[in-house]
Amino acid sequence: MGLSDAFIKRMEKKLLDKMQEIVSSLDEIIDRTADTDSRGAQDEGDRSVSHYSLHYLSQLSTRELETFKAIESALGKIKEGNFGVCEGCKDEINPKRIEAIPWAKYCVECQEKKEKGFL
Ligand SMILES: [Zn+2]
Repeated sequence: MGLSDAFIKRMEKKLLDKMQEIVSSLDEIIDRTADTDSRGAQDEGDRSVSHYSLHYLSQLSTRELETFKAIESALGKIKEGNFGVCEGCKDEINPKRIEAIPWAKYCVECQEKKEKGFL
């Protein structure tokens, strides 16, 4: 692993910030629909992420939902110690790319291949 602990810590914070941002937009959706079917989510004081059911997540845009899942997966990788490794070629992702998109799953080459449908 070429990434320093300090770098990973910083990326972890970015990931959590972004996740918080998505969760806030989710809160708005929940508040908007509060009177109909979200009582379960409103009752408990703890508003941790695990608490948001798939039902609410499904109201996010596809892009947000994908980012959300990618962030969860990136946070998992930090715990497992394989953060920053491309899921395609298993090489290290360029730190500059991680800096820009901490939840990136692929290096630039694999991302391009994926977008063209080769992966
Ligand atoms: Zn790759």
